[in-house]
Amino acid sequence: MQEKREIPSEVIERVKKLREEIEYHNYRYYVLDSPVISDAEYDALMRELKELENQYPELITPDSPTQRVGFKPAEGFKEVPHAEPMLSLDDAMNENEVIEFDKRIKRFLGLSENEPIEYTVEPKIDGVAVELTYENGVLTVASTRGDGYVGEEITNNVKTIKTIPLKIRKFAEDAPEIPIRVDIRGEIYLNKEEFEKINRERILKGEIPFANPRNAAAGSLRQLDPSITAQRKLDIFCYGVGKVEGYRFTTQWEVLQVLPNWGFKVNPYVKLVKDIKEAIEYHHEMEKIRDTLPYETDGIVIKVNELSLWEKLGTKARSPRYALAYKFQPTQSTTQLLEVVFQVGRTGAITPVAILKPVQIGGVVVERATLHNEDYIKNLDIRVGDWVLVQRAGDVIPQIVMPIKERRTGEEKEIAFPTHCPICESKLVKKPEEAVWRCPNSNCYASLVRKILHLASRNAMNIEGLGDKVAQALVDKGLVQNVADLFYLKTEDFMKLPGFAYKKAKNLYEAIQKSKKTTLPKFIYALGIRHVGEAMAQLLAERFKTLERLMNASMADLLNISGIGYEVAKSIVEFFKNEEHQKIIKRILEAGVTFLEKEEKKPKILEGLTFVFTGTLKSMGREDAKKRVLDLGGRVSDSVSKGVNYVVVGEAPGSKYQKALQLGIKVLKEEEFLKMIESV
Ligand SMILES: [Zn+2]
Repeated sequence: MQEKREIPSEVIERVKKLREEIEYHNYRYYVLDSPVISDAEYDALMRELKELENQYPELITPDSPTQRVGFKPAEGFKEVPHAEPMLSLDDAMNENEVIEFDKRIKRFLGLSENEPIEYTVEPKIDGVAVELTYENGVLTVASTRGDGYVGEEITNNVKTIKTIPLKIRKFAEDAPEIPIRVDIRGEIYLNKEEFEKINRERILKGEIPFANPRNAAAGSLRQLDPSITAQRKLDIFCYGVGKVEGYRFTTQWEVLQVLPNWGFKVNPYVKLVKDIKEAIEYHHEMEKIRDTLPYETDGIVIKVNELSLWEKLGTKARSPRYALAYKFQPTQSTTQLLEVVFQVGRTGAITPVAILKPVQIGGVVVERATLHNEDYIKNLDIRVGDWVLVQRAGDVIPQIVMPIKERRTGEEKEIAFPTHCPICESKLVKKPEEAVWRCPNSNCYASLVRKILHLASRNAMNIEGLGDKVAQALVDKGLVQNVADLFYLKTEDFMKLPGFAYKKAKNLYEAIQKSKKTTLPKFIYALGIRHVGEAMAQLLAERFKTLERLMNASMADLLNISGIGYEVAKSIVEFFKNEEHQKIIKRILEAGVTFLEKEEKKPKILEGLTFVFTGTLKSMGREDAKKRVLDLGGRVSDSVSKGVNYVVVGEAPGSKYQKALQLGIKVLKEEEFLKMIESV
């Protein structure tokens, strides 16, 4: 006996709220072709509602969004009832759900768990599901899925698609005869290239770009004027049949084999698998290659192969029991736009980059996305503080697809495009035929790279592993716009650089942390003030004792010091007067940079020893090697004589090597030398 139970009021409220939200998003998606949340977020709402309804079946009402498939057709198109309903598929997000699907089928059919079931698998194309009705082999009606029972008539638009036969023909001797009537089902889609082309044109015309190829395909199909549809290069993959009169298919695999022989395009990746394990493997393989396909896929479709089982399994209210969509990791999500920074490229091109509230997309945390150019921002009316739809595909830089204006609070701010270069402050220029602003200073990009390299150099902050290529990549990726940014980068940031796996990224991160313990002279030198070399930095540090005092020094204070002339004094005062420089210094210090009283004295382990170098060292320059010896209390000589203790031999050594052998002086290979000096 089932007892009537109390349903908590929060549950009733939540179910109500979920239904309202889902209905709203259905409307945005199906009627307006303009979704404001990602598919993944929509799915999450739907799942939550389904779970609550499973828990409290008494809450299910006939008008709940779980009880229907799509949405009612928009005005302006004739309604077409489907002879057999075009149901949408249940989704699985992980392996367990797929295994559960297989188990459920076996339970339903009374099979044991280890009896395998054959499935067909195919990529799930991100397009628009359609039904094509052929009577005596002639295309008579084409319709969209609609709500699954009634769709919209789009016959004239569909006829513009060249890969859809207007008449079925037999292309193989052994193909079945053309039936009296057959409903062919497939997905109409736009390939990625065509999608991008359409969006570029829309942006140029000041129209809002489509959020994804599916919306673009839907928008193109649902044109009241078929000549517009004809301009878009729509395509189709056929994947099944609805009602068939005059022929009987026995398996889904047979359908997939016969369709091409009747002139229909079937995806080349369709496959017959012997059990659910193979279906899961297929999913992983397709996910790996999805970015290389010319069209968008968002998962795979798994169908029971035996059509007689379809009848036995039947359907639930909203979806069939014999098929499942096993999704890939989503590539879109929504998040908030926190800030826009302007990145200067190698060619001087200024790119606006969105700094986002971190969001997981396809297993990767996305914090930055490109905004392309000023026109893109203006056309889409993107503002700081907006909720935005973000998309990432493969290795491409994530991009902002659109702002979600419905979520605005009024606090959002327009994005002010800079008039001057963020690196060198030159006035930006734009060619009339281009959408891109550029910094006219050809030296600009290079000078930032140089500043980074100088700061990281051994006698400055001494950041190991930060060479030319890394500095360039940091600027290219927009991770560093001024040298202070370096001290805020995390291991994950370095992993975005070419050739950086976790370990290398972590090493660089740690090298930067280590560099934060420095000395005042090194720091002054690292700032890269004109005319301030190592010796000058040393002098300034000795005289002023603190950075603050140096920053506040007047011309008179500086000129009072012997060894400092007018040029140098002026350069120093101007450097510290610059507000941008003040900000950068403040940010570096705030990152935890501290000055040790004195550099830790290394023990003079080479005291009393004399070294001679010959040949080329791989790990450091000759001057560097000499300095290391001097630092450790040793001496360096240019010629080999009896008083020399060690001759360090690099590649292609000269006559000094011979001499050392003659005199019986100890010869060190480079590795041995390194071992000796690095033992401290
Ligand atoms: Zn510049």
